[in-house]
Amino acid sequence: MMADPQNLETDVLIVGTGPVGLLAANALMEKSIDLYICDKLNAPVEELRASTFHPPTLDLLEPLCLTSAVLENGLKSPE
Ligand SMILES: Cc1cc2nc3c(=O)[nH]c(=O)nc-3n(C[C@H](O)[C@H](O)[C@H](O)COP(=O)(O)OP(=O)(O)OC[C@H]3O[C@@H](n4cnc5c(N)ncnc54)[C@H](O)[C@@H]3O)c2cc1C
Repeated sequence: MMADPQNLETDVLIVGTGPVGLLAANALMEKSIDLYICDKLNAPVEELRASTFHPPTLDLLEPLCLTSAVLENGLKSPE
């Protein structure tokens, strides 16, 4: 649902629905923290940007059970 930016009330405003914004939103939602997330684009970018996954990224995705899915579609960086 689109919010009226003139009357937006939220505890956390996340600008950008890339991986960082979405992971931050997920972490805040798990703690029931009120948030609003927005992006200047109306749809996800279609340019491929995730061919290689670094160990810290995989550590973040593991609790979300996303590790095996992303590794099926990309490479794991050794370091
Ligand atoms: C061609 C290419 C290949 C890449 N390959 C890899 C790879 O293989 N492995 C890897 O780990 N990383 C790769 N990267 C880096 C990758 O882009 C980042 O790891 C990842 O996308 C960063 O996530 P992010 O959420 O910080 O930013 P982004 O994914 O860039 O998301 C930022 C979001 O913020 C939005 N935004 C920006 N400014 C505003 C604004 N003023 N108002 C509202 N919304 C806004 C944008 O529309 C976008 O949706 C690649 C990058 C490029 C360009």
